[in-house]
Amino acid sequence: MSGHGAAPYIYLGLRALQHRGQESAGMATWSSHAGLYQHKSMGAVHEIFNRDAVESLRGSVGIGHVRYATTGRSSARNAQPVIIPTIDREIAIGHNGDIVNFMSVKKSMQREGTAFFGSADTEVMGQLISYEYSQTHSMPTAIRRAMGALSGAYAIAMLHGNTLYAFRDPNGIRPLCLGALENGYAVASESVAIELMGGGLIRDIEPGEIVMIEKGQQPRSYKSQNTSSRAHCMFEWVYFSRPDSVLDGKLVYNVRKRIGETLARESPVKADVIVPVPDSGRPQALGFSEESGISYSEGLIKSRFVERTFILPDQKLRRQAVRMKLHPIADVFNGKRVVLLDDSIVRGTTLREIVSMVRSVGAKEVHLRIGCPPIIAPCYFGIDMKDRNDLIAASRKEAEIAQELGADSLKYLSLNGLVKSIGLPENQICMGCITAKYPLNIPQEQQRFQQSLNDF
Ligand code: 5GP
Ligand code: MG
Repeated sequence: MSGHGAAPYIYLGLRALQHRGQESAGMATWSSHAGLYQHKSMGAVHEIFNRDAVESLRGSVGIGHVRYATTGRSSARNAQPVIIPTIDREIAIGHNGDIVNFMSVKKSMQREGTAFFGSADTEVMGQLISYEYSQTHSMPTAIRRAMGALSGAYAIAMLHGNTLYAFRDPNGIRPLCLGALENGYAVASESVAIELMGGGLIRDIEPGEIVMIEKGQQPRSYKSQNTSSRAHCMFEWVYFSRPDSVLDGKLVYNVRKRIGETLARESPVKADVIVPVPDSGRPQALGFSEESGISYSEGLIKSRFVERTFILPDQKLRRQAVRMKLHPIADVFNGKRVVLLDDSIVRGTTLREIVSMVRSVGAKEVHLRIGCPPIIAPCYFGIDMKDRNDLIAASRKEAEIAQELGADSLKYLSLNGLVKSIGLPENQICMGCITAKYPLNIPQEQQRFQQSLNDF
């Protein structure tokens, strides 16, 4: 973004996007007098950026990042923005997504003598842009060339001197939007970040588009040559994004509410109460309640101070963490036929624990309704579900899963129901994890998911 003193704005934007990554965070800013400033570390945004840290980042243009590791280890070395030298000023890059062919690009660059300091795909992109810039002396051309060589999901904010670039892979897999601030422009993964910076959404950045923002000027747009068909990640609407964001024209809250309404029509059930699994199942449960007439109750209380369960390394730890995070109100469940609504099932950890908790406080029947079709295949584009063996639905039918989770019934949203709820044409949505059909060629898929997570 640009404006007077960029860092305090970026801080607000990062706080708004904390849900997108809690492992590390960072910022880079550019000052015409003093050059590049950066600060990054492991941890949450408010831990890393105290007042001193924000004030130390000088300049009216900068970028920030929160990291959720899918490619490259979760370590300080791979924290972003990634800084790469070029023939003139450094570039700083913040990346959301996964580049699927980065290993082969990296190997060929290593053969030519490029040295890498981390294991992340983002560094490969940065080195490639830097190389192309040395050949062409035009940054938009360098970016366009790098985009031609790299395949995968990427939404990028990049700083080069006083100029900010934002670009999005040709399928538009991960979201990226452009907004106006009081005194400049901003780009962000989600519109909520622009709103919390005090600005307003202008539009989504198009798949394959490169936007260039220079101080005091209108944003300029360049098209990369290879614009393929759109493939927006369905999981952004299902789970990942905040409900108060608008992605590719669709308000997440409305999509989730429609998912609940659709589930109620597709898979009705006789029950006394519907309870969401907080937080991400709330709008869906509300939609289900309105459509079915079953009353809505908040029967599971979420602790505000518990760390994430999803990334814990061990299944037992994850189960304990679910119990620390969510606790049932006995009165809501005792003697009742209950519908539990969760946004998705990945490994099944969350619902297995919740069903047993809810039964232990007297629920008579437990019916699960899931706001997403069965997740049966890995994601190669930036969601941390890499291993088929972890996915409970990869090798089991609905009835078997219901039994494993201890539920009286289990129904998933249909694929068609999901598409209708999102409101985009089916051929514009990436549903790789639920269809095992991907919008891009995944080189040696077999080989890829046999590697350990740390190799990505
Ligand atoms: P499961 O417990 O079945 O492995 O995962 C499903 C639950 O985790 C759902 O309640 C969903 O809200 C949440 N979830 C799904 N995907 C992710 C993710 O990528 N990260 C985190 N932190 N939670 C997730
Ligand atoms: Mg959840």
